[in-house]
Amino acid sequence: MASFDYDLFVIGGGSAGVRAGRFAAAAGASVAMAEADRMGGTCVIRGCVPKKLLSYASHGFEQVEMLEGYGYAAGRPAFDWSQLIANKDKEIDRLEGIYGRLMTNANVELYRHRAKITGPQSVSVDGRDITAERILVAVGGRPTVPSMPGAELSITSNEVFDLTEQPQRIAIIGGGYIAVEFAGIFNGLGSDTHLIVRRQILRGFDDDIGGHLRAEMEKKGINCHVGVTPNALKQNQDGSITVELDNGEELVADCVLMAAGRQPNTRDLGLEDIGVQLTDSNAIKVDPYSQTNIPSIWAIGDVTDRMQLTPVALHEAMCFVDTVYRDQPRAMAYDCVPSAVFSNPQIGTVGLSEADARAQYSDIEVYRSTFRPMKFILPEGDEKCLMKLVVDKASDRVVGLHVCGVDAAEMTQGFAVAMKAGATKAHFDQTVGIHPTAAEELVTMREPVKP
Ligand code: FAD
Repeated sequence: MASFDYDLFVIGGGSAGVRAGRFAAAAGASVAMAEADRMGGTCVIRGCVPKKLLSYASHGFEQVEMLEGYGYAAGRPAFDWSQLIANKDKEIDRLEGIYGRLMTNANVELYRHRAKITGPQSVSVDGRDITAERILVAVGGRPTVPSMPGAELSITSNEVFDLTEQPQRIAIIGGGYIAVEFAGIFNGLGSDTHLIVRRQILRGFDDDIGGHLRAEMEKKGINCHVGVTPNALKQNQDGSITVELDNGEELVADCVLMAAGRQPNTRDLGLEDIGVQLTDSNAIKVDPYSQTNIPSIWAIGDVTDRMQLTPVALHEAMCFVDTVYRDQPRAMAYDCVPSAVFSNPQIGTVGLSEADARAQYSDIEVYRSTFRPMKFILPEGDEKCLMKLVVDKASDRVVGLHVCGVDAAEMTQGFAVAMKAGATKAHFDQTVGIHPTAAEELVTMREPVKP
C-alpha cells in the first residue's frame, strides 16, 4: 500500500478549509494545511466579520438623529474613522489567533505558505514536496477588477478595510451585495456616496427587493447611477479621482471602490497541469459530494462557485468530512439557503425570487406588504419595510420569502427553518404573530397581490 506524508492536505485556511481540516482530524485523519495569508480567510479577515463591524458603526448618526424623537436632546457626535479601524483590527487579530489555535489544537500541521498542486497526491509548499492520500482545495476567491483605463487607481474590498482615512467622497462600482453594503456603510458614516451600477441593483435577488432597496438608499442620500458604465478612471492633481461614465457624466471622488464581482483563486495552482476540470468561470468543477474528476482531489467553498457564503462553505466542509472520513456520504442541499445583505436597510431572503418561482411553477401567488415600521413613527422617519411571500399554489408551499427592512437578517433565519421543513401558506396563516413587531406581518398577509 502506498504511504503518504498525510491522509489529507488542505489548501486554504479560510472558512471551508479550517472547518474541514479540523473535523477530518477529529475523525482520525492526519491532516496538514497550507495558508498563504492570514488564518481565517476572506470571511474573518476581509469579508463578513469586518464588514458587519463597519455596518454596525454606520448606523450611529442615524440612531442619534432618531433619539430626538424619543425625547433625548441629541447632537451629532464626533466620529473617528481611525479609531473604528483600530478597534476592528484588534478584533480581527483576536479571531485570527483563534483560527490558528483551532488548527494546532486539532493537531493539524500548518504551513504558512502558498501551496501548489504537483500531482494527484502531491503538493509543493515553500520548496518542500509533500504527499497526501487526498488533497482538499479550499482556496476561495478574489475580487474581479474590470479592465479599464485607470483601473489601478481603484481599491477593492480587500483594501477598503485598511483605508487610513475615511474618504469624504466615494464612488462604488458594482450593484451586487458587496457594493450596496459598502454604499450603506460609507453613506451612514457621512461620506458623499455614489453607487454606479451597469444593469440593476441586486440582480439575481427578487426584483421588488432590489427596487425597494434602491428607493430607500436614495432617500438616505446615496446617489444611485443605474444603467451606466464607467469608461475610465483618471487621477487629478489634488489626489482625487475622476470617474468617466458612458453617459458623458463625470464624478469626482477621493476613493473608487471596485465591487464588480469575484473570481475563483484557481490561477497558477497546478490544477490544469494534472487535468482537474474547471467551469467556464474558472471555478473547480465538482460532483455533489465535492469530488473533482481526479478522485484524490476534492474542492469546497468559494473556489467551486456554488453559493459564495460562509455558512455554505462550512456545510460543504462537513459534508466532505462525513463522506470521506465518517463513512456517511452526504451531499449539500442548496435549497432554502437563507442569506442577508447588510445594506441600509437590510435584506433577508430565502428561497426563490418571484421570477424564478414563475419559471419553476405553473401557478404562484404573491403576497406583498410595504409599511413604515413602528420604530420610525416617533422620530418621524420615512423608512419603509417591504415583505414578500411567494407561494406555489398547487402545494401551498411558501417557496420564497423576502424582507427589506430593519432586522431583516435576524428575522429571516427562523423562517428559513420553517421553509426547509416545507411550511405552507396555511402554516404561516395559522402561526400567531408576536405583537408589536415588524416580523408579525409575515404571518398576517392574507390577500395575494393581483397578478
Ligand atoms: P476563503 O475564506 O477565501 O479562504 C481561502 C483561503 O485560501 C484564503 O485565506 C487564501 O489566502 C488561501 N489561499 C489561496 N490560495 C492559496 C494557495 N495557493 N496556498 C495556500 N493558501 C491559499 N458570506 C456570508 O455568508 N455573509 C456575509 O456577510 C459575507 N460578507 C462578505 C463580504 C465581503 C466583502 C466578501 C468579499 C465576502 C463576503 N462573504 C460573506 C463571502 C464569504 O466571505 C465567503 O463565502 C467565504 O469566506 C468562503 O470561504 P472559503 O474558505 O471558500 O474561502
